Amino acid sequence: MPEEPCQCPDCQRFYREHDRLIREQPTLRQQQELSWAALQAFRTLAGRALEELQRRHGDDQSPPAASSPPAQPLAAAAGAAASEPTEADAIQQAMADLENINAHLFSIEVLMERIFDVRVPDDVEQVFRELAGELAPDPLNADRLRLNRLLHQTPDLPPDRR
Ligand SMILES: [Zn+2]
Repeated sequence: MPEEPCQCPDCQRFYREHDRLIREQPTLRQQQELSWAALQAFRTLAGRALEELQRRHGDDQSPPAASSPPAQPLAAAAGAAASEPTEADAIQQAMADLENINAHLFSIEVLMERIFDVRVPDDVEQVFRELAGELAPDPLNADRLRLNRLLHQTPDLPPDRR
């Protein structure tokens, strides 16, 4: 029996969101626009939050390396800090992390621009639509509901009884 995908609440939420994005944006063009909008929204919000934190707390006390490689893991950073990290330390750390995030988002945007230059003919978009319908069928679709009911009538076997 093949390994079942994880069914914890986080993963289930991810599967639902993943399928919804396929179902509601079933063409290459729509996926491009969706991803671009999501990236820009992320950049806008994270960039503004960083500016606001810098305005409130200043950004020149123990300046975090802005365009350095990605920050070290949080645990390592905490270990290197003074024994009793203050709230101000936490804010400074958050600002450094946000600067790194923003730098990464900018890099992603540069890569995405290449992908998003592409346009495909309608015939190809139709292939996308067909596959989207197979990959992420409407959960409210009658056949799907019937199938789910059938599946849920089968009691779950304990993992050692496959
Ligand atoms: Zn999981």
